[in-house]
Parts: sequence; structure tokens; C-alpha cells
Amino acid sequence: MYRTNNCGELRLANMNQEVVLAGWVQKSRKFGGMIFIDIRDRYGITQLVFNQENNAQLCDSAEKLGREWVIQVKGIVAERSNKNANIPTGDIEIIVSELTVLNPAKTPPFTIEEDTDGGDDLRMKYRYLDLRRASVRANMELRHKMAFATRQYLSEQQFLEVETPVLIGSTPEGARDFIVPSRMNQGEFYALPQSPQLFKQLLMVSGFDRYFQIVKCFRDEDLRADRQPEFTQIDCEMSFVEQEDILQLFEGLTKFLFKTIKGIDLPNFPRLTYADAMRLYGSDKPDTRFGMQFVEIKDLTAGKGFGVFDNAAYVGAICATGCAAYTRKQIDELTDFVKRPQIGANGLIYVRYDADGSIKSSVDKFYAPDDLKKWLERADAKPGDLLLILCGKTEKTQKQLSELRLEVGTRLGLRNKDQFNCLWVFDFPLLEYDEELKRYFAKHHPFTSPKPEDIPLLDADPGAVRANAYDIVINGIEVGGGSIRIYNSDLQKKMFSILGFTDEQAQAQFGFLMSAFQYGAPPHGGIAFGLDRFVSIFAGLDSIRDCIAFPKNNSGRDVMMDAPSSVTQEQLDELRLIIAEKTQ
Ligand code: ASP
Repeated sequence: MYRTNNCGELRLANMNQEVVLAGWVQKSRKFGGMIFIDIRDRYGITQLVFNQENNAQLCDSAEKLGREWVIQVKGIVAERSNKNANIPTGDIEIIVSELTVLNPAKTPPFTIEEDTDGGDDLRMKYRYLDLRRASVRANMELRHKMAFATRQYLSEQQFLEVETPVLIGSTPEGARDFIVPSRMNQGEFYALPQSPQLFKQLLMVSGFDRYFQIVKCFRDEDLRADRQPEFTQIDCEMSFVEQEDILQLFEGLTKFLFKTIKGIDLPNFPRLTYADAMRLYGSDKPDTRFGMQFVEIKDLTAGKGFGVFDNAAYVGAICATGCAAYTRKQIDELTDFVKRPQIGANGLIYVRYDADGSIKSSVDKFYAPDDLKKWLERADAKPGDLLLILCGKTEKTQKQLSELRLEVGTRLGLRNKDQFNCLWVFDFPLLEYDEELKRYFAKHHPFTSPKPEDIPLLDADPGAVRANAYDIVINGIEVGGGSIRIYNSDLQKKMFSILGFTDEQAQAQFGFLMSAFQYGAPPHGGIAFGLDRFVSIFAGLDSIRDCIAFPKNNSGRDVMMDAPSSVTQEQLDELRLIIAEKTQ
């Protein structure tokens, strides 16, 4: 037997017991005739004591132990005279009588402690060592718990977990596919699934009724801050449901996870249409931990000779509570913020509502205090508040104002990681028009059904058609999204044609789906949650990387195993692939 106990469980109640522990040497220090060693495993840290007087030879061996050596010790649990309140085992120590070195170790490239000296790159290269650190491991434990509780909840609701294939056919809609050459079918390629979308819909045609899968998905996108080329979804589909059924069931899942894992009782989730979300927050994933909703003041600004406002389609304001005392420098910082190329505003206009009731603005030349007062009133501003105003084309300006709102929210400390505000955003537009390519794209995906009452608009005004699609948003992050699907092969055909597919292209790529729809497809719909994001919100992490055991870096590389990498000429020959000159 390697151990009787783990390194995190012994307490005063175990006093005088003889125990065997196994683990890694975290730290050792010599103190007079004694050697103290912290032994660590997944469960915690326990202090070992070697006493020169009792056993000089044992002490010599202990002195030779290096950091991260794997050892086994036998000893007696004793009360510590110098207790450590910071760790659960801090009241006891083990008086060691036997020591076995199970495996010596090279000195690790960084210290494996909470405050590590290892930089990001080094820790990623030696990720297996980084995973020994308690905080990183805690993220993995949380992830396990969330996946486990998800399975429990869904299984209790009659969902079946079904595995769908990883080698599938490529479909050009959506993000770029990762493709895999087929040796047995030369010149042909599989694709890795961007999601099991088609398979889960086919499972509904098969009568599975309720499906889920915790599943890897792959998207070959240019990496942005919080994206990984492979990520995990909690993917779900249900038959004979309307949008309301899905919202209820998955609001239930979210509440269940918050309750069982964080002990938090969430109130019912507010619901916001896409149009309202854009109007009030300039975002389809608003952070509702704080208010600061937009107010439109275009009508109040007209006719005073201020061309910038007069020529703008939209003039919108947010009220920064208590910020009238902002210095020139602070306002300049916000102005620089909105003028950054990523945000792209031309400038920022402000109205200060000073605590003494006086009103000053950056547009005093055009507007008298009485004019400004009307703006303040509409924004429900109180003395001491600061009104921040952007103007321009409607959608663009709303997006800029949304960024400003988040920035001001952050500066005011309104985005507390321990507060969780969930909401549903629904009634998304079905289609999105690409000005450059002059064609429509599916906002969600081509299988999303239009709202029945909007179907007549499909020909006349496709851009105005709303979808039976919904997103779940937590603290400004889109954690999941889904839709009620089209289940009629004619409507599906029509959708493909609106998206610019010829009949032949649609048939070649999705023929099997449209044909399946002719064999008794039930009404159905579903949703997928991004597990990585969900876990990172629970853990209060800034990046999803920290809750993935072996993540890729920002250039999509696994720096530990150095992937992607070139393959041998034999492998290329077997696949009949020729590598072209590298593009720079
Ligand atoms: N397959 C969709 C996605 O990955 C989710 C869904 O519609 O269920 O976003």
C-alpha cells in the first residue's frame, strides 16, 4: 500500500496514529537538529518532521531530498507546537520513522507554489508542472464538478448523452473548418465539427427526443483574446418544444449549477429582446451588473447650430454616477479611450452636473444650462453626476457607447466578479447583411427558424425577419445560445437560397438533412453552452485558458508538445499531399 491517507486530510483527531503518506516535496527547511518538509499531493500539504536526535541516518536522507522529489513516508501524527492556521492540516505534523524515495526529480524550471516565479510561456511549456499548483488544479476540479452536475441535471430530465463523430464532412457556412486529409480516399478530406449541429438535429428525426453531449468543437478562426481553436460545448437538443420550454429548462440548469456548486440562489432571469439590448446597452450581451443604460437625446439637441449633433443619426448618453468631480485628466483618458482605433469614435462630449447644481459642458458654446438640464433630466442625472455623450451613425455609435459604458463601469468598480447577473437575449435578427460581399449571412446558423409571424417578410425584407433564437448572457459574456429549428424541408431550402446557395450546392452539402426532414422530422430546438467560458465565469478568471488542462497559446500552438508540427515525407506521400512554399 503506497499510502494510508492523503496529504490534505489529517487533523488533531488523528493524533498518535501511524500513517503512510506519498507525494511531492514542496519545500524543506532545517531548523536546529530538525528538518521540516512539506509534502504535497492533490489534496493538500502536510508537514513532515525528521529529528536528528531520534534518527541521524534518516535525517541525512531527508536532507538530500530536492524539490519535487516523489517520496513515501511512514510516521506518527503529532500535534504541532507551532500551528499554521493557513492550511487545514496546520495543527498536526508527522514524526517520520521511514522514508522511501519513489523517484528523484530534476529541479523544476519554476517554483510550484501559489506565487510562482514562472512566466506564462514557461508555465505553458511545462503545463504538467503548472497543473500541480493548487489554484490551477482548483480550476480543473471546478470544471469537473460543473460537467458532472450538468450530466446529473440533464440525465434527470431524460436527456441521453450521445457521441457524434469527430471526422465529418466540411460545410463552408460559419467559421473556417479544420480539415483532415483522408489516406484511404485520396484527394478527399474530413472536417472537424464546428459543433454537432446537424447530428443533433438528425437525432431528433431519429426520435431521441432529448439529447446532450459535452463535446469538443473546432473552429479555425484567427485567435482573439479569449478563443481557443478547440473548445468544449454542453450541446443540447429537444423535440416537441417551443422557445419557452428551452428557456425554462436551461435557466433551470444554470440555476442548478450556481446552487450546487457556488451555493447561490439566482432569481429568475430577466429577458431582453435583441432590439432592446441594442437600444439600452448597444450590445447583444450586456453586462447587467450595473445600470447606466443609454438615453437618446438627439431630439433635445437639435436646432442650436451644433453641426456635429445635427448631422448625426444618433446622439446617445450615459450617466456616470458621481463622476462630476472627474478631473480634466480623467475625462481626457476617457476621450482617448473612445478614440482608440478599436473603438473609433471622433470625440467625447460631456456635461458636468456639479454637486452645487451648476452645469458645465464641452459644448457650452451651443447649449445654455437650461438646454443641458433637459438632457440631464432625461438621463435621470443627479447633482454630482457626469453625462458622457457620443454621436454618429446609430449602430456604430451604440457599439462605441457600449465600450465606454463598460470602461466607466470598470473604473467605478461596478463589475464585481462575485456578482452574477444572468439574462436571456432573444428575438435576434435571422440574417445579417454583409455590405462588402453584398449578401445575407445567417446570424445564428442556417437551421434557425424565422418567427412564424415574420415568414411573410422573407422575400420582401429579409433583414427585418426575426429568428426564434436566444442567448444566455452572464456578466456581459455570451455563455450559450441556440434556436428553434426549421423542420420543414421546403422552408430549409428557401433559407439556403436566401443565403446564396444554388439548389445544387444546397443539395450537395445538406441534401441528407433536407431528405431527413421528409421522413417525419418533429418540431425541435436546442442550445449549446460554452463550457470553458462557463467555468471561467464561475472561477472568476479573465481567460478561458486557465480552466483548460492543456490549452493552446495565442497563436494556436501547443508549446508543450510543439504542435502543430511538420510530418514526415512518408506521411505526406501516403496522403499524396505536396506542401507549397510557405507564405510569409
Ligand atoms: N450549434 C450552435 C452553436 O454552436 C448552438 C445551437 O444552435 O444549439 O452555436
